[in-house]
Amino acid sequence: MAGGVGLTALLVAAARAIETHRHDSLARDVFAEHFVLAAPACADWPTRIQQVPDGDANPLWGRFARYFGLRTRVLDDFLLRSVRADARQVVLLGAGLDSRAFRLDWPADCVIFEVDRAGVLAFKHEVLDGLSAVPKAMRIPVPIDLRADWSGALAAVGFDPAAPSVWLAEGLLFYLPSTTETQLMDTVDRLCTGGSALAFEVKLDKDLLEYRDSPLYTATTQQIGIDLLTLFNREPRPDSAGSLTGRGWSTAVHTPFEFTRHHGRGPLPEANDALAGNRWVFANKPRS
Ligand code: SAM
Repeated sequence: MAGGVGLTALLVAAARAIETHRHDSLARDVFAEHFVLAAPACADWPTRIQQVPDGDANPLWGRFARYFGLRTRVLDDFLLRSVRADARQVVLLGAGLDSRAFRLDWPADCVIFEVDRAGVLAFKHEVLDGLSAVPKAMRIPVPIDLRADWSGALAAVGFDPAAPSVWLAEGLLFYLPSTTETQLMDTVDRLCTGGSALAFEVKLDKDLLEYRDSPLYTATTQQIGIDLLTLFNREPRPDSAGSLTGRGWSTAVHTPFEFTRHHGRGPLPEANDALAGNRWVFANKPRS
């Protein structure tokens, strides 16, 4: 967890902890602060906005953390809607420190597959075991790199492509090589029967370096030493939403700001905004 992209999972956990302690929180994750407190790499990170000297004015722990809080809520709602409809298999790609298996009210027969690299999942288990946390649905960790044959690993632990499923790639795709994203979409399409759903996050920016000096990237580098621009894969991105539409999926592409307006809190557009190109895509595969 200590370095590279694994540390970004801790950044999201810290943001969720801060969101959880807000009086007007959009999502509550009581496990999030325990991940932060357990990791020496983020010993001096805040878990409450009151611990941040400039509070909400801080681009990282104010606006960016609120972004993650909003994203968590919107994707919680998407997953719960999907399992209340058809899907009983949930696949969290690049699950990181996502604790949804432990905190959302899943139907009794739901199975949640968490795919991430072994080190990240091992740290997660250590913390959750220490808390004696009990999942609210059957939870199956799938420790594998998404550049390897992860669909084989998923099949080996019981994923059934003949039954509807719901998939999430939250804060993941921009870390992956472009070809890996294309293969991931191909694989998800192949493993999804009609009635399945997928949500994912993309960045539309042609040149991410355009926002090199944005308050958000600058604060993240200066305050916690995570230079997101060096972790993001900067190859030209595939049009994943378009490719799913071409295969018959129905897709809806939204800005995060639309959800800010819907919920009445969260980030709004600003000048030199590293969030300007972020899009949340919701896709459904119709029954044939
Ligand atoms: N989805 C989680 C969330 O929103 O809390 C985690 C997001 S974190 C920013 C990105 C996650 O993607 C990390 O946990 C990282 O380990 C995982 N990840 C990145 N590249 C990966 C790869 N090649 N294979 C498996 N996981 C990967």
